[in-house]
Amino acid sequence: MSELFEETLYDSISGEEKAAAIIENFGNKSPIHEELPKGNSKMIQTFDGYQVSIFDLVSDYTLKSPNFKEKKNNLGYIKDSKCTKDTPVIYGNQDTVIYGAGKRIKPRLPGRKESEHMKKIFLPELLPLEEYNLIIILMSGGKDSVACYYKLLELGVPKEKMEFWHHDIDGGHPERRMDWRCTQNYVKALSEAEGVPLRPSWRVNGFFGELYRIGASEPIEWLDPVTGEIKHCKFSPNYLKCQDIKEKATAEIEELLQYGYRMKFPAKSGDLSRRWCSAYLKICVADAVVSNLDRLRELEQLGGKRHKFPAKGSTHQGRWCSGNLKAAVQDSVTSNLDVTKTDKKILVVSGERRGESVGRAKYNEMEVHRTNAAVKAHRIVHQWRPVIDYSEKDIWEVLKRHKVNPHPCYRAGWNRCSCAMCIFSTPKLFAGIRELYPEEYELLKQDERILGFTLDNKCDLDTFIGEAESCVYHGDQKAIDSLKTGRFSVNDIYVTDEWMYPAGAFHGAEGGPC
Ligand code: SF4
Repeated sequence: MSELFEETLYDSISGEEKAAAIIENFGNKSPIHEELPKGNSKMIQTFDGYQVSIFDLVSDYTLKSPNFKEKKNNLGYIKDSKCTKDTPVIYGNQDTVIYGAGKRIKPRLPGRKESEHMKKIFLPELLPLEEYNLIIILMSGGKDSVACYYKLLELGVPKEKMEFWHHDIDGGHPERRMDWRCTQNYVKALSEAEGVPLRPSWRVNGFFGELYRIGASEPIEWLDPVTGEIKHCKFSPNYLKCQDIKEKATAEIEELLQYGYRMKFPAKSGDLSRRWCSAYLKICVADAVVSNLDRLRELEQLGGKRHKFPAKGSTHQGRWCSGNLKAAVQDSVTSNLDVTKTDKKILVVSGERRGESVGRAKYNEMEVHRTNAAVKAHRIVHQWRPVIDYSEKDIWEVLKRHKVNPHPCYRAGWNRCSCAMCIFSTPKLFAGIRELYPEEYELLKQDERILGFTLDNKCDLDTFIGEAESCVYHGDQKAIDSLKTGRFSVNDIYVTDEWMYPAGAFHGAEGGPC
């Protein structure tokens, strides 16, 4: 598919440009019988009787074409950077009920098979939705995950079959936050308003615990939506050994603290055994003490240490925040939870879209999930990205139709709802963080100094922001209050007046991959 076609489709597919694009893709054997006159001008009727979107038709052809290699990046999606209020709605219209009808959803674009791994996770189609015992929606609070939920609802999935899983990136850290203060409450409000159970899960002490980790990572916990109990995943042997070492070392540290020492940053009270990373940080400052603690070396040998911000790369290995605090949390909960452990068919639904980035453009719409254990545990786990082809406009259309108030960060000018202080934030977004949370911004700068490692791989935060203007939109004071205080109640979830695009809409996808 040519760049030309991509442009013509979204701007206007009528006229000479469209003809040129069709000829380029189909030569003089155009499969188009007629353009359907009314409604969506993107729909056409083919000679073999199908009514399809012209976009799908060309994409299909592109994939079957011997020239696919050359064209493989043209997978037929609208980049967020090109999407505007005037972009036509293509996929975001009301869905029809298929639940219970035995229908198997197939991907718009077939899955990839270019490596052994891709062949292993290849999934040609989903089971009929009614055959899954549980449908887990990975609910970040961002617009795409919210749209996923409403799509399932429109397809007829009963609420009793669904659960929202939210990964809390901060993991209850006693002092520090990476995420928006209101995200937990936003997700909780949606869950209450819609009557869908919410299962939050986290790695204890979250981002900042992991950043200052020495020894094995903290355990993973979750909140049971029925009993309200906090449960934890099975501890690894290494974690238990590290705990033992830390307990002994904590006693030693406390003894040392009685003799007093000067710290370079404010001391805060708290349970040292629970946030041992913080205790370690203080020891780091007193170099003489560190050299006396052989246990630190022991811990490092057992479980490694972190002490570096995540890398701005695309793999989970370097970008440990999304790997260790989201994907690993989700996988552990799936394999530890009684309702998902064995003899179950589970569908994990997430809201990635091709239009967000070149990397996501190549994602499979559906695949076998990492936690699938068909033989060992009789657990079938499929993953579905139902809005993968949606443009930003399509997504807003879904929220508009259901009159849902978007997360306050969009209303305050953010184009994305990743972690508030996402490592991928642009200078403008970090300038917004500095404006809203000056104290947390200072602490982040302090982290850079303590770790000797900057969040951006080239310069420190102040230099990175430079002269950039803050992204904060001041016309929605309620949204700003919510971001500052964390307040967001169930009464705030639906828009009662006219639904409006938030200030952050249609500003591209820069600023975070998850
Ligand atoms: S949103 Fe950004 S900071 Fe948060 S987990 Fe993802 S990449 Fe890391």
